[in-house]
Amino acid sequence: MNNIICPNCGSADVSERLSTSDYFITKDLFTIYECTNCKVLFTYPFPQPDMLYLKYYKSENYLSHNKKASDLFSAAYRIVQKINIRKKLRLLENVNQSGEKKILEIGTGTGDFLAACQNQEWKCFGVEPSEQARQVAKQFNDLDLYASIDEIGEKDFSVITLWHVLEHIPDLSETILKLKGLLSNNGHLIIAVPNHNSFDAKHYKQFWAGYDVPRHLYHFNRKSLQSIMESKGFKLMKTKPTVFDSFYVSLLSEKYKRNNFIINYLYGFMIGIASNIASVFTKESSSIIFIFQKRGG
Ligand SMILES: [Zn+2]
Repeated sequence: MNNIICPNCGSADVSERLSTSDYFITKDLFTIYECTNCKVLFTYPFPQPDMLYLKYYKSENYLSHNKKASDLFSAAYRIVQKINIRKKLRLLENVNQSGEKKILEIGTGTGDFLAACQNQEWKCFGVEPSEQARQVAKQFNDLDLYASIDEIGEKDFSVITLWHVLEHIPDLSETILKLKGLLSNNGHLIIAVPNHNSFDAKHYKQFWAGYDVPRHLYHFNRKSLQSIMESKGFKLMKTKPTVFDSFYVSLLSEKYKRNNFIINYLYGFMIGIASNIASVFTKESSSIIFIFQKRGG
């Protein structure tokens, strides 16, 4: 017996899944547990928010990463980013059935997606905890972002998006309920998260970059996210695969596994392709986009 409890539902009925490390910054060791009750996987130890941000989040140089770097990887990254923004916009227009176009993005980063929404006549609001990212969003995309969800004075959003953000949020249930309160009746919540049932996750095991402990506090698959969201009053409308995430995640995972430059690219690319092909049959892509609708007014 141990005294580890699920940080989402409080159940003590948990079992060890695997041990992994923070390969990105500290090399600290963590264990991933599975909760038998709510099915979610969680990172243990589960760092306190202040320690989490101080120790495990590097202050990113947003400018050099996004706008200036000229190496092959950065150039490819920028092209993929542009394609992804276009795909996200198309999804947004398809999902939104209301006459209103009012969006809230949680985890806005430097605001490139939100700026693209603004060009399509959306009323745009965003939350971004990093002050540096907020400054870049102001300077380059003319966006005024909030530092936290609690600062938002608006509500009745037709769509709220969390692109690779939910897995970083410590108070999961509380946040989902807050977002539900901010949505209009029948509004949509779009959530993209890494999928630990994907081909690449199963291939790389403890080296899988999608675990990214301890920045990723929770780890989801189709079943766990659907059941958590349904328990909070949402209905799953549909899911969509992501194509590029498997390449990015596989390249990083190769780096964590053996760090040989040529092999990283070669194997990472092959596993990325294999993961996409497998997901055509299994629907278990590297990351999954979930489209939920707020239930009953
Ligand atoms: Zn649980």
